[in-house]
Amino acid sequence: MSEFTLKGSLALVTGGGSGIGLAIAQAFVNAGARVVIAGRREAVLQAAVAQLGENAFYKVCDLSVLEGLGAFVENIEQEFGAVDILVNNAGINLKKPALEVTDAEFQNILQVNLQAVFALSREVANRMAPRGKGNILLISSMASQYGIPKVVAYTAAKSGVEGITKALAVEWSPLGIRINCIAPGFIETEMSAKALNNDPERKNRVLSRTPMQHLGKPEDVGLAAVFLSSRAAKYITGVVLPVDGGNAIGF
Ligand code: NAD
Repeated sequence: MSEFTLKGSLALVTGGGSGIGLAIAQAFVNAGARVVIAGRREAVLQAAVAQLGENAFYKVCDLSVLEGLGAFVENIEQEFGAVDILVNNAGINLKKPALEVTDAEFQNILQVNLQAVFALSREVANRMAPRGKGNILLISSMASQYGIPKVVAYTAAKSGVEGITKALAVEWSPLGIRINCIAPGFIETEMSAKALNNDPERKNRVLSRTPMQHLGKPEDVGLAAVFLSSRAAKYITGVVLPVDGGNAIGF
């Protein structure tokens, strides 16, 4: 169905070299988009682009350096054309009891997972606004749906991400820019492996409250991202869509 295609669109996916970001990039390419993936590790990005094929490109960028983000977006638009879709996927986690989390650690998680998400979205939206169209996706987490121990800074950042999804949607939707958020449940990636693999009790707990009884695949998030970025979702803005096998409503 043509409403679900991304043909003719250019997407920028942060953290697109691995995990969920790579799966989003793959789903976008499959749906007909050209994709620029961005991250810090050039070798990882090169390998990802080789896997994604001729419609994928990469740019090296440390998103935590906010001052560089305007020039970063400008360079991408000069080289590849107007960005139609931005996916703010890059993120970091810190698993540590709250009593031991330092201010610097808390700040570092907020910087990458929230501050950079806002700054990059603003830079891209400033270019989308005069064109009167655009799509921005944010990625939150089950950590903003209910309390998870040992991830206090991550929870603060991801709760902020859900908050700004609504704040940006009311300001930017009248300009033709849709803003939506995906809240992945527990998805099989390096990040979740670090949090779950040496902690069988936590993993059992996750599975026991996931009605679909298994972890998600990165591709599950990729397909939802295609839908939300496509014309099929043209009347959807400001939502937080869980892609979680029912984890958020599990008992
Ligand atoms: P991942 O570690 O595989 O991917 C994160 C990516 O972000 C990496 O490519 C990394 O290089 C990039 N990144 C981190 N800091 C960066 C920076 N300063 N500048 C540029 N790039 C940077 O993790 P993932 O599991 O694929 O997570 C992707 C997103 O999904 C994150 O926002 C994460 O919080 C969210 N998420 C993941 C899960 C899960 O179960 N895996 C659940 C909920 C939410």
